[in-house]
Amino acid sequence: MSKVWNYYAGPCMLPDEVMDHAQKEFRDFNGTGMGVVEISHRSADFMKVAAEAEALIRELLNIPSNYKVLFEQGGGRGQFAAIPLNLLPEGGKADYFVTGHWSRCAYKECAERYGDAVLHECTELGDDGLYYVDYSKMKVSEGSSYAYICINETVNGIESFELPDTGDVPLIADMSSDILTRPIDVSKFGAIIFGLQKNVGPSGMTMTIVREDLLGRARKYCPSVLDWSVLAKFESMYNTPCTFSWYMANLNFKWIKSLGGVAELERRNIKKSKMMYDYVDSSDFYVTKIAVKDRSRVNCVFTLKDESLNDEFVAAAKAQGLVGIKGHKVLGGMRASFYNAMPLEGVEVLIKFMDEFARKHNK
Ligand SMILES: *Cc1c(COP(=O)(O)O)cnc(C)c1O
Repeated sequence: MSKVWNYYAGPCMLPDEVMDHAQKEFRDFNGTGMGVVEISHRSADFMKVAAEAEALIRELLNIPSNYKVLFEQGGGRGQFAAIPLNLLPEGGKADYFVTGHWSRCAYKECAERYGDAVLHECTELGDDGLYYVDYSKMKVSEGSSYAYICINETVNGIESFELPDTGDVPLIADMSSDILTRPIDVSKFGAIIFGLQKNVGPSGMTMTIVREDLLGRARKYCPSVLDWSVLAKFESMYNTPCTFSWYMANLNFKWIKSLGGVAELERRNIKKSKMMYDYVDSSDFYVTKIAVKDRSRVNCVFTLKDESLNDEFVAAAKAQGLVGIKGHKVLGGMRASFYNAMPLEGVEVLIKFMDEFARKHNK
């Protein structure tokens, strides 16, 4: 098998060390004679993995002790429902700061099913032709139960590096694609949700980090498996958890710690994304439409100036083992994702390919 460079947005590449380690334990976990997907979630061996993973993410993100860490199922979209079901009382109101595709999906889920979701369009097209996040639009309404934000818009390539001031209204954030890519101050949030498959592990598991005082407010008919207080009470084992994803997350957390934690990853991610955007900005063949201050470090969205070459570009990349660079179907164009596991070399290889492709067609 020849070398493949994987730029998919999620599920996505995981560190070699993590994959190799998991491969070894797939058939015999920890000398139990059973594979890692074959052991009970209640066994001492698995309970140790579960506890270790929680302790590690607490350490990596410096999570204050008045926050619960939950391991769940249902994906990011499951949490789009869980958030209003847990935090929005019947007849209540919540603010949604929309900066792209995923925050719009979360807004719709709330507005169409659960209550008064107030839509704030927070992305603007500047005079320079670039889209930017307008934080002045992020204002909370009177009587709001929470304010919602998606910190990294995976589809659009927009990342919010500032946070709105929501006062006493809890800020609820989707960090599915940028959790653990840089340090964050968890105490600024009421809750943070993220699916594992962007950056942390395989699909199948979702996590919620939630401030304790926000528990116990769920609507009566909130499904128990989405009720954060039920999950907290049962330490995320109310129903059978996705053991393999939990195990893989633990390996990934260990890997992050071994590198020096999220501060070191941020340093690497800045370097990688800067290299990519510098190249795109310097080229007259490719273009990105996001303002410099709001460009995602992990999902670089760009287009070819001549979009008739899109299919040829994707095919030529694939022929060289570069996969997953086609943009999300709602947006078109191209997207290259450089999550934690992507080494600098992966960015260099992509730029080299892009440059050769541009030279070939730029006559
Ligand atoms: C992928 C993604 C989602 C949706 O996750 P699912 O697990 O497919 O429901 C939500 N938010 C963000 C930011 C994402 O990147």
